[in-house]
Amino acid sequence: MQHTLAIIGYGGMGGWHHKSIEEKVKNIRVKGAFDIRPEAMAKAREAGLHTYASVEKLLADKETDLITIATPNDVHRPLVIRCLEAGKNVVCEKPVALNAVELEDMIAASRRTGKLFSIHQNRRWDRDYRIVRETIRSGLIGNPYFIESRVQGSRGSMYGWRGYKQNGGGMLLDWGVHLIDQLMDMTPEPVIEVSACLHKIFGSEVDDNIKVSLRFGNGLSALLEMSTNCFINLPRWHISGTEGTLVINDWSCDGEIVKLSTDAVMEWDDDIVYTEAGPTRTMAPRPKHTTQRLTLPDERPDWSEYYMNIADTLDGKAELIVKPEQALRVMRVIDTVFAADEKRCGISCEI
Ligand code: NAD
Repeated sequence: MQHTLAIIGYGGMGGWHHKSIEEKVKNIRVKGAFDIRPEAMAKAREAGLHTYASVEKLLADKETDLITIATPNDVHRPLVIRCLEAGKNVVCEKPVALNAVELEDMIAASRRTGKLFSIHQNRRWDRDYRIVRETIRSGLIGNPYFIESRVQGSRGSMYGWRGYKQNGGGMLLDWGVHLIDQLMDMTPEPVIEVSACLHKIFGSEVDDNIKVSLRFGNGLSALLEMSTNCFINLPRWHISGTEGTLVINDWSCDGEIVKLSTDAVMEWDDDIVYTEAGPTRTMAPRPKHTTQRLTLPDERPDWSEYYMNIADTLDGKAELIVKPEQALRVMRVIDTVFAADEKRCGISCEI
């Protein structure tokens, strides 16, 4: 079935949704847009869209059955609830809300109206993430026990509305929500402990350089780092498993897996080993023949698969991939991260 979509908020991401759907998603047509800024409305018209004079006019269009909300974060809740109550299916940009209580209101509206509600957690379709998920799923490095996931830049303060608390700015809500969502997508066990350090290097209002530490009920622990003031980057992913290590260095997915050779038997002398680290057996280099290097699994996901799933769910052909209940779990972790940073101590939880 053909679906017709309108976009609220035609800024950077609104324009991206339009282009990406038009290019890659056959059974969704983007009809129009509304934005509070005249320049954004002009941009939407230039891109061939119908522009609505108001949200009311947009919601009154009987031809549209799907709305994408790509506004700053603080207006997601009222807009999502309004669209659902007008009988529309809704896709909302991340972070879907400023906290878990807001999201509970939105989920209640979707249950009340029976309309589809999903969150654009497009980074579940990132190639690096899919390589990590597949490596763990297939047991290639045994059981993972440390995961480090980082995004690092050096361009300074949070840009535009992202620099203001009242708009839901800050790094945790901007990138933290993606990195936490990815971790929780591949780890169904509960988060049992959260600690965090949220620095405000470039102002006093929002966090911009942050580290978050999560411990899961299955023993896995994860360190997430997001920075805007890093001039020498660490790998995007570094994962320790019981049988090997995975590294993905960057967005191009340069990286490798190193694990124990299946046939090599380690034979160690009783003597201490003299290394650059001093006399140590533990940190001495492992003999080359005892390990093997593997290339990373070949994964080729595409962000447009998100919308293909939305259309298929509306047509009754698939189950929704990004569910609001999953986003609620992520939002509860985010609430706990803010609390842990404020208290300056780890918080035990069951999320
Ligand atoms: P932006 O500032 O470029 O665009 C936001 C637009 O919303 C602006 O044109 C603004 O005029 C408009 N707007 C503000 N209030 C409005 C309202 N009440 N009604 C209608 N329009 C309104 O911001 P952006 O970078 O496009 O971010 C928008 C959303 O997309 C945010 O939630 C952000 O976190 C998210 N985002 C997601 C990704 C991703 O990869 N999933 C990437 C970037 C941004």
